[in-house]
Amino acid sequence: MNNIIPTEETHPLTWRLRNDRETVWIEEYCKKNGYFSLKKALKTMCPEDVVHLIKESGLKGRGGAGFSTGLKWSLMSKDNSSKIRYLLCNADEMEPGTYKDRFLMENIPHQLIEGMLLSAFALNVSRGYIFLRGEYIKAEYILKKSIQEAINFGFIGSNILNSGFNFELFLHTGAGRYICGEETALINSLEGRRANPRAKPPFPAVFGLWGKPTCVNNVETLSNVPSIVLHGVNWYKKLSKSTDTTGTKLMGFSGKVNNPGVWELPFGTTAREILEDYARGMKSGLFLKSWQPGGAGTDFLIEKHLDLPMDFTSIAKAGSRLGTAIAMAVDNKTNMISLVCNIEKFFSRESCGLCTPCREGLPWIVKILESLEKKEGHKNDVKNLERLCLDLSPGKTFCAHAPGAVEPLQSAIKYFRLEFEAGISIKKLKKCSNILGIQSNEFTSKV
Ligand code: SF4
Repeated sequence: MNNIIPTEETHPLTWRLRNDRETVWIEEYCKKNGYFSLKKALKTMCPEDVVHLIKESGLKGRGGAGFSTGLKWSLMSKDNSSKIRYLLCNADEMEPGTYKDRFLMENIPHQLIEGMLLSAFALNVSRGYIFLRGEYIKAEYILKKSIQEAINFGFIGSNILNSGFNFELFLHTGAGRYICGEETALINSLEGRRANPRAKPPFPAVFGLWGKPTCVNNVETLSNVPSIVLHGVNWYKKLSKSTDTTGTKLMGFSGKVNNPGVWELPFGTTAREILEDYARGMKSGLFLKSWQPGGAGTDFLIEKHLDLPMDFTSIAKAGSRLGTAIAMAVDNKTNMISLVCNIEKFFSRESCGLCTPCREGLPWIVKILESLEKKEGHKNDVKNLERLCLDLSPGKTFCAHAPGAVEPLQSAIKYFRLEFEAGISIKKLKKCSNILGIQSNEFTSKV
């Protein structure tokens, strides 16, 4: 059991949470050191100082890819001649099983707004948008109210705190497409176009929203910025138990565990600690069969991987991705074919249809999985699934949607191949063997 009391020093993202889990509105946020970082930056720092600080802190994007935030910021075009640049907050949280950004937006919205203000100051940006998942109705209400509060308190608008810095912030709700989480599809959608990813280069840092330099950061990433500006790089680095990644991370467990949820933990905390100490283990009568470390689009791992530190490198070495670090437990009574089929139906439906392998390959995968689920699979179905995983691997499609979609499938086959092979119809297998003139093999007698 964990009995740790969150403090400003140990839990920079969540120490302001109220016990009753009501939203921390602006007056309470200001009483708890809110907007101190903005005041500090506007009074004592120049934009380059903030970029340098974030680069030095080692902050990595919390949307799943883990790219260095400071490096991303430093790639923003230095050409300021048009005077128009944009900061976009990617709040289109649609990864199945992930709810960490919603948690931050509903509970501590001003932390995100302050993070956006600091990031905009660092990037010489005067206009920002929060691209919010359309289904997040409560977060929409809270963010709208919070933006108005920040305007009323003089933190958003012209000549903020008499510094000469101007910033306008708008909330945009999406129409419900998973692909809008891809930053260039998000930009297209914001422009009113179909949400297809764009060819890169040019990257958004050079040619983004309406052709202007644009930086897109995730909610949790931006929410980390105020505490780094206030407390500095050394403090931030020491928060982590990992040698790979600095700071803390919202991590969680869902599935048939006793206490599903999300907690702020140091990078390097093991998945076993999260599962046993925070999620309080599997429900009575069940045991862990498998788990996904960070969303539906990450490879399954198994029990022996629970002792790995939750950071980008350790999880990648085990053959998966940290992703959003909101893990999902799979219990021993869950059929892997049914589970993966459900996941692939989602990814197939959410394909934007732009490139052929993804548009055609994912529905084909679903069709095969459905027949395996009914035990009507053909002899070569498992091999065909493996071939499709290769055909949809990185570099074969226009964006990372398809490679992410096949990660759960390829890893489920790797660890639970017999379950997939058991979906092959004995009748079809025998018929096929007769046609080919070969005897039933060892595998046939097993099923
Ligand atoms: S991989 Fe899928 S989602 Fe990405 S561009 Fe191609 S069709 Fe669209």
